[in-house]
Amino acid sequence: MSADLWNLRINDINGAEVADGKYVLYWMIANRRTEYNFAMQRAAWWAEKLGQPLVIFEALRVGYEWASDRLHTFVLQGMRDNQQALKDAPVIYYPYVEPKPNAARGLMEALGGDASVVVTDEFPCFFLPRMVNAVGKKLKCKLEAIDSNGLLPLRATEKEFTRAFSFRRFLQKELLPHLEVTPNANPLAKKSFPAADRKLIAEIEQKWPAIDEKTLADPANFIASLPIDHDVPPVDTEGGAKAAGKQLRWFLKNGLSRYADERNDVESECVSQLSPYLHFGHISVHEVFHELIQQEKWEPSQVSKKVTGSRDGWWNMSPGAEAFIDEILTWRELGYNMSHLRDDYDQYSSLPDWAQKTLEEHKDDPREFVYSMEQFEKAQTHDDLWNASQRQLVRDGRIHNYLRMLWGKKILHWTNTPQYAAKIMIHLNNKYALDGRNPNSYSGIFWVLGRYDRAWGPEREIFGKIRYMTSDSALRKLNLKGYLREYAGGKLFK
Ligand SMILES: Cc1cc2nc3c(=O)[nH]c(=O)nc-3n(C[C@H](O)[C@H](O)[C@H](O)COP(=O)(O)OP(=O)(O)OC[C@H]3O[C@@H](n4cnc5c(N)ncnc54)[C@H](O)[C@@H]3O)c2cc1C
Repeated sequence: MSADLWNLRINDINGAEVADGKYVLYWMIANRRTEYNFAMQRAAWWAEKLGQPLVIFEALRVGYEWASDRLHTFVLQGMRDNQQALKDAPVIYYPYVEPKPNAARGLMEALGGDASVVVTDEFPCFFLPRMVNAVGKKLKCKLEAIDSNGLLPLRATEKEFTRAFSFRRFLQKELLPHLEVTPNANPLAKKSFPAADRKLIAEIEQKWPAIDEKTLADPANFIASLPIDHDVPPVDTEGGAKAAGKQLRWFLKNGLSRYADERNDVESECVSQLSPYLHFGHISVHEVFHELIQQEKWEPSQVSKKVTGSRDGWWNMSPGAEAFIDEILTWRELGYNMSHLRDDYDQYSSLPDWAQKTLEEHKDDPREFVYSMEQFEKAQTHDDLWNASQRQLVRDGRIHNYLRMLWGKKILHWTNTPQYAAKIMIHLNNKYALDGRNPNSYSGIFWVLGRYDRAWGPEREIFGKIRYMTSDSALRKLNLKGYLREYAGGKLFK
């Protein structure tokens, strides 16, 4: 394995030296899993190198935007799985959920104050980069953030890709060596370091108690006591590494072979539904890729020698596998590329010039329908299909990708300004979608407004040259009867 390529995943946050501490600390904030986890593997490597115990601290803040019963339940289900997975491991697993805003103030300084090295997860989005940098400034020891985000390390390129085609071409030229640098299925395997004694962090735990096993098994009452948004209830989709693995196995067996042909068919349900697990780090894209190539019996030598940037034919896998890789690699990591390289990835100003220009030219076009944030949120538009997709988002925490595109396009159509449309999409997506607050939240939302796309004709009112979609054509093209039956009426919540 190439050390240089591994090193691309290591981000030295504060330039500090290894300190003379009592343990190595892994501060788990994004890769919330115990398998296929570069950061945990790096922390175990440090523990072995320094001959010190390993403390794994998984934290959840309470005071972030959109914190709700839905998101907390999902994360706590993940903590439950991690606790079980590490039960017999020679490490301390310390799951902590902030009971009120700022309760965790001082905790990282205390825990990191006794550490020789702190390793954390790199996640190029939301409040996490700011939080990691702020902690880095306060720690006296080395703080490393490890990039487990994608098959391609974030630092493999400094080029910002503005079209999927050019990113795909880049991947076809550059990806293969990176596929050899994979995280171990079990990051603790073959690592030897002293077993950790809970006493090591006893004083800290007294002040900031870990969430106990019983609460993790049934967290509803605890979550009800937290100052978060209780109007967004948990969904049936269960969080955690176990559910993620089950979903992956289901998809590979039942969805993959239909994926190329039926991905846009809302009722066929052949898509993976892995995005919430990928978002919260309950599953690694490396594990998904590993299982996929096992099933495909694929070897790197099979790739085409021709670099065309085309979606099909480069991998020489089944059509379903190639179509799936195009989403989980090309499209997914395209979004990570932008949020890693641009501070304004979540701003309207990040849209390409042509898109901003055409939207500006049409800003005063008459709007037949204009809805407020509240009307959109409550699914109170004139359009049954739009209302149904909003209901799916509110009830289930997801919208099928095809309808998610339509959902966004109609918000652009029915608001006074494209800037306000972006604001509505960001708020509703991040509040209700399990996979929200992710680089791909912003790539999806800004795709609606022209990012990663080209100008389309004929030029239309409101949209200008931005790609246009209508509910009528979706209703013509797709079988949506069952979907409408399920979501068109009834209460907003189950
Ligand atoms: C308005 C809008 C908002 C969106 N918000 C989000 C979001 O908050 N979080 C999010 O992860 N995705 C978002 N997407 C992209 C896409 O809708 C979801 O990734 C996909 O529907 C997730 O379902 P799945 O896991 O079954 O995907 P599958 O079809 O099974 O694809 C596998 C994986 O590939 C990735 N992927 C699939 N489609 C896309 C895409 N178009 N762009 C980038 N990555 C993709 C996801 O990680 C996904 O889990 C958004 C798209 C739009 C149009």
